[in-house]
Amino acid sequence: MDLRICHLYPDLLNLYGDRGNIIALMNRARWRGIDASVTDCRLGDALDGDAYDLYFIGGGEDRQQRLAANDLRARKGGVLKRAAEAGVVVLAVCGGYQLLGHYYRPADGDDLVGLGLLDLTTVHPGPSSRRLIGNIVIRSTLLGGATVVGFENHGGRTHLGPGAAPLGNVMRGFGNNGEDHTEGGVSRNVFGTYLHGPLLPKNPLFTDHLIRSALGRRYGQVTLPPLDDRIEAEAHASAVLRAAGE
Ligand code: GLN
Repeated sequence: MDLRICHLYPDLLNLYGDRGNIIALMNRARWRGIDASVTDCRLGDALDGDAYDLYFIGGGEDRQQRLAANDLRARKGGVLKRAAEAGVVVLAVCGGYQLLGHYYRPADGDDLVGLGLLDLTTVHPGPSSRRLIGNIVIRSTLLGGATVVGFENHGGRTHLGPGAAPLGNVMRGFGNNGEDHTEGGVSRNVFGTYLHGPLLPKNPLFTDHLIRSALGRRYGQVTLPPLDDRIEAEAHASAVLRAAGE
């Protein structure tokens, strides 16, 4: 088996070590004897529709996000939409997550039109509003009630429509909007979240869920043998403790 990853805008949208998520995906596949490759796809590049099992988009501030939003719509949106409909995995963090919704309304300037892969909208309430910053812990039914930990830093408030399920419920931190206790958005194999951290090294259950979902489209149901996750479990537990103490 091989896992083909496409990293979208690796130099433009890459806050708080989002690239660590790619490394976690690659390593957890390779440690099980699954070939894994990553292709970077930047502003202006065309996207090859059939070439990938998983797309990753990281976070960025509003200026970078606007560049990415324009490029997504102009060059990559059609391919990504078809891929998502075919069950390809898309994981987007923070700024990238906001761009998968219908729009992101920044503090200044026009709305950034999103791809509409997730039924959600995001509004920044203005430059003097409080940013939602800190460690965050959520509980995810998607992962059998397991906790997912990370770090969030966003001004935008996201509200889910009926077509998107939350990735989890907020136990510590703010999540989508600091009010309704939801975090992230999921529709089929499209996953969006505010959790940096980086997210995947500290949450191996989620990483494996993504790998299984990504391979499942071409290989059917895949069973991943367990790995020695003592270090990852420790990192996860200490991040939960840290968040709980805040
Ligand atoms: N610009 C967005 C916001 O502040 C996203 C920030 C980020 O990706 N960290 O809401």
